[in-house]
Amino acid sequence: MNLVIHDTLSGEKRPFTPTDPGRVTMYVCGPTVYNYAHIGNARPVVVFDVLFRLLRHIYGEDHVVYARNITDVDDKINAKAAAEGVPIGTITDRFTAIYNADMAALGALPPSAEPRATAHIEPMLDMIGRLVDAGFAYAAEGHVLFDTRKYADYGALSRRSLDDMIAGARVEVAPYKRDATDFVLWKPSKPGEPEWPSPWGAGRPGWHIECSAMVEKTLGMPIDIHGGGHDLVFPHHENEIAQSRCATHGGPYANYWMHNGFLTIEAEKMSKSIGNVLLVHDLIEQFPGEAIRWALLAAHYRAPLDWNGELLAQARKNLDRFYGVLRRAADLPVDATVGPPEAFLAALMDDLNTPRASAELFAQAHTLETSADVAERTAAKSALLAAGRLLGFLQADPDAWFEGGADEDLKAKVEALLQTRIEARAAKDWATADRIREELNALNVVVMDSADGATWRLREAT
Ligand SMILES: [Zn+2]
Repeated sequence: MNLVIHDTLSGEKRPFTPTDPGRVTMYVCGPTVYNYAHIGNARPVVVFDVLFRLLRHIYGEDHVVYARNITDVDDKINAKAAAEGVPIGTITDRFTAIYNADMAALGALPPSAEPRATAHIEPMLDMIGRLVDAGFAYAAEGHVLFDTRKYADYGALSRRSLDDMIAGARVEVAPYKRDATDFVLWKPSKPGEPEWPSPWGAGRPGWHIECSAMVEKTLGMPIDIHGGGHDLVFPHHENEIAQSRCATHGGPYANYWMHNGFLTIEAEKMSKSIGNVLLVHDLIEQFPGEAIRWALLAAHYRAPLDWNGELLAQARKNLDRFYGVLRRAADLPVDATVGPPEAFLAALMDDLNTPRASAELFAQAHTLETSADVAERTAAKSALLAAGRLLGFLQADPDAWFEGGADEDLKAKVEALLQTRIEARAAKDWATADRIREELNALNVVVMDSADGATWRLREAT
């Protein structure tokens, strides 16, 4: 079974062949850390987490290196630091920690490396120097710009011609640019902003050069897979290719380019002006991270995904179904030698087809629930858990899943009612005990009495 992935550059599905199967490399553009991540930012994180897990499954955990950068120097970071009167590091440390905690709540494994831009100024200056020396970049008014006319393949990834791009450039072109499409590699800092010395004057790097320099430094060129959201194809990834290839005299940069589709909110673009920006930090307070993860993988990664209440409700219902089946099969053993089912792997190997892969989870759950054969049920339970693990699902205790749907207020209320119920029963006050049972029922709580006392859970969604 071979992994096949859709490559944006060639525009087709291609069998995946890493340069070195002993060290498969993947780079995904990470966050600019000045604010909370929204649900659209979380989609590439979860999509490429699934790919990371799949690559680890295929090549072995120690043979995949996944780097996701932290952009920790940027205009918005500077503005926020200035507004709070603190160094940029205070802002970027705070939001890096929040970002990592929020993404962990969605079940995303930490990447193998998380290079920070400010720790890679030297490799960036080195790459800019090579571009200037080779005539692909020029200095002007304290800036260094990449000369897009010098790179014949400019526009290949986004399928745009340079002339169309120039004709389409509506913004006023900065006087120091030779061409409208030339992009900044280095620029002067404004007074009070952080700056680093350079042969072209003190300043700071442009955004695009940081990824190219960190790819080269952290992973080495060419990398196997470069990923990100579809909105990064142009200009960010186009520029990364141009500068990295020119800096290495035409060498290949990334052998496969993967991009996830857009995420809309109730069929609308997410924007501050509409007021429909959903932050992961808020969502994980209201819904289990696992349900949010399921919702993010509900569509194929290249398709658009519309985020709405129904999508999340369905995600939760699906997980209720699996955890309900697993709870009813709690007494069955798990055979650790059983791996994910063939059809499940085949779906993921086919350009990460998560909808088809999750259909296979349902098939296993069905066998587990309905088969009369214990060996068959044990195999189905083991396969379901192995497949779930690969996708980042179903590893919680089923009881914890159902109670996890209760917020702290509800938990406290239920515990108090259960305590009163114990006292009422001890006093043979059956009227009070009955009334409490009805109250718990109204709260959607199911109580299970046993010799060790009562446990409870929220009723499964139907
Ligand atoms: Zn990038």
